[in-house]
Amino acid sequence: MMLFEKIVFGPIVSRRLGISLGINLLPKKWKVCSMDCIYCECGWTATKNKDIKLYDKELIINELQSEFAKLHKKGLKLDSITYSGNGEPTLHPDFEEITDNLIALRKQYFPTAQITCLSNSTQLHRESVVRALQKIDNPMMKLDAGTQAMFDKINQPCGVQNIDFICEKLHSFGGKLAIQTLFLKGILHSGETVDNTTEAEIAAWIERLKYIRPHTVYLYPIDRPTPAKNLQKIPTEQLTQIAQKLETFIPKIYAC
Ligand code: SF4
Repeated sequence: MMLFEKIVFGPIVSRRLGISLGINLLPKKWKVCSMDCIYCECGWTATKNKDIKLYDKELIINELQSEFAKLHKKGLKLDSITYSGNGEPTLHPDFEEITDNLIALRKQYFPTAQITCLSNSTQLHRESVVRALQKIDNPMMKLDAGTQAMFDKINQPCGVQNIDFICEKLHSFGGKLAIQTLFLKGILHSGETVDNTTEAEIAAWIERLKYIRPHTVYLYPIDRPTPAKNLQKIPTEQLTQIAQKLETFIPKIYAC
């Protein structure tokens, strides 16, 4: 299980983002997420229905300020400052205020770095989250399925999440977003099959992308051990074939 121990971590060199400094708004001991994806590299969401205390915004902002000042003094150059870490960053109740401060600190210390957020798209019913995601350079939003049934199987949202509503909200970004999708197939603990690479599932997902119109789509296979057993990694050739179906309407496609 991979968890980050600090609010500011890295930098790491990422194939997608270059030199990327991570920001983790969530506690160090647990993953806090509004989903329980069967492939999550942080393990199962053990905090479901638990009342977890998150860091205060003041503590986070102070930490950002002091870490950025230190790293800047060392002469660090960054391509991206990236919300990621132990779960879903937009769950923090003060996500917008923290983001406003992050934008100001970026201007002061790392003006050429873009701000990225890896988000699971479940908090778009909160206007403040949509506003914050639209203020940053690079919202990278998860959409692992085109149908509600496959979405529920793969992402196991905690509470009801309606995929039509999520896609409407993603459409409202006016194309200023990237979509990230992980492809897999396998058999669940219940004995049910799961496979978002069938012709019907890919067709449904493509329809969603045509509606959302992201500038970039990232396609991934499983890369690390998964909490659900019996999941298969999709071969690179199959990922490439799926990517080719997007070429006429998505400007940038990465099959990683
Ligand atoms: S949304 Fe991300 S952090 Fe949450 S369970 Fe899924 S993969 Fe893990």
